[in-house]
Amino acid sequence: GFLPKPLKLTDLTTLVAQLDRVSNPVSNDSLNSALENDHFFLMYQPKIDLSSATPVSVEALLRWKDPDLGIIPPDKFIRFAEMNGHIAPITWRVMEMAMSQLARWQSAGIRVTMAINMSAVLFSRTDVCDITSRLLAEHQLDPSLLTLELTETAEVGNLMLGLETMTRLRIMGVDLSLDDFGTGHASFTQLYQIPFSELKVDRMFVGKMHQDPNAYAIVRNIISLGQSLGMRVVAEGIETEQHQQMLLEMGCNLGQGYFIGKPMTAEDFETWFAKRCSPHEVVP
Ligand code: C2E
Ligand code: MG
Ligand code: MG
Ligand code: MG
Repeated sequence: GFLPKPLKLTDLTTLVAQLDRVSNPVSNDSLNSALENDHFFLMYQPKIDLSSATPVSVEALLRWKDPDLGIIPPDKFIRFAEMNGHIAPITWRVMEMAMSQLARWQSAGIRVTMAINMSAVLFSRTDVCDITSRLLAEHQLDPSLLTLELTETAEVGNLMLGLETMTRLRIMGVDLSLDDFGTGHASFTQLYQIPFSELKVDRMFVGKMHQDPNAYAIVRNIISLGQSLGMRVVAEGIETEQHQQMLLEMGCNLGQGYFIGKPMTAEDFETWFAKRCSPHEVVP
């Protein structure tokens, strides 16, 4: 017959549970299970030197692949993970994946550094320094190949609690980058006291600067502020050739964005890198 089978109560409970997951995929159970079953993976987005247009670094961007729901972006679960004790295990997993990839690229002659996003909360709660140096040693990587990008997403003030850890990392040779500058909670005090080597201009200003004089003024002044404090400045969110050209003219050091390269799988990054680095003139 073509009449559908009547639903049993057990089917209904499963159905309700599934619907519940669709409306709210992030929970303690789902994050634990994602870690246990290795459902996290990384995409890599290049940073180029604007004056030479050559790749210098890649940023590891976390993705969660759920078997039922597909790919869940970090904006959907990082905050929850920070508040519920999952951020440390997730970050150690990210660092492990990013550093093994970096080691493979190093031995393949793909000379780039690796940037990893770190929640500010980790610096006050865990020994980021010990774990970082252990992982670097395990993968036989020079500390100068690593940049930690810090975003203050949680309560203001966390960054300062980690000041000692950050200073130890810098002494070790790891680079520290202040992410999303201009829209996060970071203050001038932090810029003054924390030994950052890189400043990232938030993409909100980059995306508007060609049509909005105030956004343009902010980008210009963040570049000059960062550089006068001895930092290299990265513009994120470069989406057009015009953005890239304007930033080059403003003297911005590095650039990142969809116009240059979207976040890619490791394999796609290798293809992208080979194209970018192939010499334009063939030397006989
Ligand atoms: P972020 O570190 O500022 O990374 C830049 C975000 O902007 C990425 O989103 C990237 O895909 C996106 N993006 C890059 N270029 C462009 C562009 O030209 N136009 C536009 N519209 N967007 C662009 P994604 O991958 O969804 O990551 C979002 C945020 O999640 C990151 O912002 C970072 O704060 C956080 N995140 C990512 N991975 C990790 C991680 O492993 N740990 C922690 N704690 N946070 C992470
Ligand atoms: Mg970042
Ligand atoms: Mg950013
Ligand atoms: Mg951002």
